Amino acid sequence: MKTVLRTNITIGDICEGFVYNELEGKGLFGLSGKLIIQPEYQRNYIYQESKRDVAVIESILKEYPLGLIYFVKVNKNKFEVLDGQQRITSFGRFVSNKFAVKYKGNEQIFDSLPKELQKRILKHPLTIYECEGEEPEIKSWFQTINIVGVPLNEQELNNAIYSGPFVTCAKEEFSNSQNSNIQKWSAYISGSVNRQAYLMRALDWVSKGNIEDYMARHRTDTNIKALKNYFNSVIDWVSTVFPEVHNEMRGIAWGRLYEKYMKQPYNPKKIEEKVIQLLSDDYVFRRSGVFEYILGGCSDHRLLEIRVFDEPTKRSAYARQTITAKKKGVSNCSHCVLGPKANKKKIWALAEMDADHVTAWSKGGVTNRSNCEVLCRTHNQAKGNR
Ligand SMILES: [Zn+2]
Repeated sequence: MKTVLRTNITIGDICEGFVYNELEGKGLFGLSGKLIIQPEYQRNYIYQESKRDVAVIESILKEYPLGLIYFVKVNKNKFEVLDGQQRITSFGRFVSNKFAVKYKGNEQIFDSLPKELQKRILKHPLTIYECEGEEPEIKSWFQTINIVGVPLNEQELNNAIYSGPFVTCAKEEFSNSQNSNIQKWSAYISGSVNRQAYLMRALDWVSKGNIEDYMARHRTDTNIKALKNYFNSVIDWVSTVFPEVHNEMRGIAWGRLYEKYMKQPYNPKKIEEKVIQLLSDDYVFRRSGVFEYILGGCSDHRLLEIRVFDEPTKRSAYARQTITAKKKGVSNCSHCVLGPKANKKKIWALAEMDADHVTAWSKGGVTNRSNCEVLCRTHNQAKGNR
């Protein structure tokens, strides 16, 4: 890779022909049309908060260093910003009077600053590395500088690595906060649209977890039909089976559940009653497990992580059972008493026993002292597996 250090480009040069997209909140072009500020593989312009815009300009006024900026040289007359787009967008927005900064005690936009100062800002030189190289080189290097700076998340990196028409179309649909479907989707997906959480989920579902493989194979596709259809099928299925939206639905692996259960018939009304009952059950610790539990016919209690007995409750059940057992001359495990001879009279130590529900939670048993019994490990496990 070839790298050239340039110090002859000024803020004024960069702001020449600056175009800002108000709707998406991002800078698009600068340097008299030669610079693409937001290339495809870059993250969305994140800092909507004006504080950081102001901080960038104050750095200039105080003559603080602005840090390195990296350009990729695409050809003789075309550059892309690899690192520094947020700073550049702030320059452009300020010079075009989009926001004010405090100067000598007053809020000032660029045009209201003293002419001398305006000139000084425009003449302010930048330190820019201009890089030229093969695409894979640039991208792997992009990965490296981003590890040093604000890290990109996994999907942002994948968008960079597999950039092309497919990613462009996919981002238009799944990374676009102006998409009116986002509101509906947000019931089932957690994370931020801008940080690619929705795109990642859609890809995860359609690829059954093999996102990178899928992106590599579809990289040059000019449409996202398959991705979109699959995503919509999953969402339609979930919203049909579970007609009411609950907070606990966000972030669930709906794609996997769709594959597993889509062919089974359900009665949405009955399902909803069950959902409400379980979500309001204090003993259900893992509330997000409720949906899979119901889809699977309410048999796998492990999905719900039913609250277990605490240590004092277990100890008091142990003491009670052991005293009674010793008096009767039998084992303190009620199942051993009924079992083969060897353990009929065995008194187990506390550490050798586990607490269990006398009446199972699934049959309405509560998790308190009155419903607690201790069993030896073997019998407790046998009971749990039933
Ligand atoms: Zn036992």
